[in-house]
Amino acid sequence: MAELTPEEFLDTVLVPEKKSDHICWQCRSLKPVLKGSKFPPADIIGWCMKIHWPDYWCVADFNVIKKCYAFDARKK
Ligand code: SF4
Repeated sequence: MAELTPEEFLDTVLVPEKKSDHICWQCRSLKPVLKGSKFPPADIIGWCMKIHWPDYWCVADFNVIKKCYAFDARKK
C-alpha cells in the first residue's frame, strides 16, 4: 500500500461539495465547503485562509478566480 502524505490523506477524507474553475483548488490556503455540509451559504466554494488574514474570506462560486497574488501551490 502506497504511503500518503498528510495533504493526500486529507484529500481522501475532506471531500469538497463543489467543483469549479477557481485556481484556489490548487492552493494551500483554500478551506473548502465539505460535501453534505448544511451550514455555509449555497454560493461559496469555501474560504480563503490567507487573504484578509486573520479573518477568512468567502470564495464565491460565481466569481471565478483565475489568478491570485497570494497563490501558494499545493505539492503533488
Ligand atoms: S490565496 Fe488566492 S488562490 Fe489561494 S485560496 Fe486564497 S484567493 Fe484562492
